[in-house]
Amino acid sequence: MTHGSNSSFLSPQQRGPTITVGEILVEIMATTVGSGFREAQPLIGPFASGAPAIFIDQVAKLGAGAGIIASVGDDDFGHLNIERLRGDGVDVSAIAIIPDTPTGSAFVRYAATGGRDFVYNIARSAAGQLQLNEAAKALIARAGHLHVMGSALSMPAAWPIIQHALDDIKSRGGTLSLDPNIRKELAGGEATRQQFSTLLAATDLLLPSGDELFIACPDESEAKAIEELLKSGICGIVVKRGKEGSTLYTAAGSLHRPAFIVEEVDPTGAGDCFGATYLTCRRLGLSDEKSLDYANAAGARNVTRQGPMEGTSTFAELDRFIAATPRN
Ligand code: ATP
Ligand code: MG
Repeated sequence: MTHGSNSSFLSPQQRGPTITVGEILVEIMATTVGSGFREAQPLIGPFASGAPAIFIDQVAKLGAGAGIIASVGDDDFGHLNIERLRGDGVDVSAIAIIPDTPTGSAFVRYAATGGRDFVYNIARSAAGQLQLNEAAKALIARAGHLHVMGSALSMPAAWPIIQHALDDIKSRGGTLSLDPNIRKELAGGEATRQQFSTLLAATDLLLPSGDELFIACPDESEAKAIEELLKSGICGIVVKRGKEGSTLYTAAGSLHRPAFIVEEVDPTGAGDCFGATYLTCRRLGLSDEKSLDYANAAGARNVTRQGPMEGTSTFAELDRFIAATPRN
């Protein structure tokens, strides 16, 4: 099956910035491979982090309009993040600073198996105190595209903001992308499942990795799950396959593009950079093939840097990386 259409199913960039709602965190990582944090060990950080924050930083680095609705504490961890995002061109007007509450954090340690263990402080940190205030409403009113990360649903306060943004942006001809981004430590209950199904019903672009395709269609083959999702009204599905690259599926067919060959230093953030780059390229009018290649490059380049937000890329950096790096 080859892909037969390049027509974009995302709103063009001129319609307004891409925005997201969700957690801003610092990440602190173990420098040794092993399991968990039940003993003293060497750590490195703090690094700017939070899947929605990495995502929106990557959108801004590509020179496209980008904003985030989030909250941090009035502490060094919070200011580290705000200054990074502002410096990279993100609209930070809707990041609330919550006094007397610490900024969210994630401790991560890589296991020998390649898996990751996390200790999170999100929902009860400043990150969880999201507010639909005037600044958030104003950002939503300007936006042309909403991107939702499943990880944000671990904060109950995010949902009413996402709903408001979805209604407002869609009613003005904007579009929605969804990265399920489910972590075992954050998997929610029935409420989260309901929120996922509400989002899936409005999703234009789905960006799953690993088993995440099966959130909507458990017990199906990958092909069957994709068929069902496309039939339900999703226009494009891009499956992220790590070292195997990525594949776009639409009603017109599929298009696979291979990954770049790199040495993986830190896998966290690859999916966020990938999604940001793919949808920004599409919103800027680039072809499916170019958009997938730039997205694969953004994911691969990110894993060569330690720290989840340290490897976000400009177009100039991606062009140099693509010219210099072999593909699988
Ligand atoms: P995350 O851990 O950030 O949630 P993800 O599981 O959502 O990541 P991945 O498939 O790991 O997404 O990575 C997204 C894209 O980045 C891949 O499709 C691939 O193009 C690129 N990528 C990720 N890891 C590597 C790697 N080790 N080598 C080359 N490319 C990679
Ligand atoms: Mg992911």
